Amino acid sequence: MNGKFSENDKIKCLLWCDRHCCLCGEACGTNIEIAHISPKGESDSGNIDNAIPLCFDCHSEIGRYNEDHPKGNKYKPLELKTRREQIYDKYTNHLVPTIYFNITQDLPQGQKRNLPDVGIVVTHQGDSIPVRFSVAVQVFLGSKDLGLVNLSQYNGESLWNLNPHFGVSGHFPLPPEVVESTERLELRVSVTVIDQYGRPHKLLPLGWIYMKDRNSWYLEPIGNEPISGCGL
Ligand SMILES: [Zn+2]
Repeated sequence: MNGKFSENDKIKCLLWCDRHCCLCGEACGTNIEIAHISPKGESDSGNIDNAIPLCFDCHSEIGRYNEDHPKGNKYKPLELKTRREQIYDKYTNHLVPTIYFNITQDLPQGQKRNLPDVGIVVTHQGDSIPVRFSVAVQVFLGSKDLGLVNLSQYNGESLWNLNPHFGVSGHFPLPPEVVESTERLELRVSVTVIDQYGRPHKLLPLGWIYMKDRNSWYLEPIGNEPISGCGL
């Protein structure tokens, strides 16, 4: 990799910030550059995650720092990425509808699924914008992490289409050992919405705990995950 951003990725960055500088927030029009957060030449430096749209002034500002005579505080990659995500959010959040998702054993006419089969429902509750999304379901049994459900539709690899006011339901098998086990069974579900400009918006992951006696699930929100994608 030569450290250059692809044309497609550059267009995405410009759409995601609506041509605003990701440091000072100014509207730039054509006076905008796609800068590297870590220097060109480092591994993955041509990856879109290393790109930040900046005005000319801010572009020279992030490079201005003399290691021999440090004065002030240099911009750190994590700070730049976090600031960039705030600007991207500002100009793309209107493209993300309200999405409802739930884990359930319920079937029509009062029927129920039985483990290891589990159902999921995802509903688009907005009015006008179609989106795509991915779902990743991680399985925990007692203290054991059994990993992601082994199907591309449920391990985050496949994208689902979702039109306004549509709901989709699906189902997937858990590892067979969960059926007889009496240990705590938890599914941690991560939904990522991809907006019309191709930007991923990670919703916060949620957990569902299985109640064996009722063959149903209750929601357990998880509080220990970072809200931004930057690890803060
Ligand atoms: Zn700027």
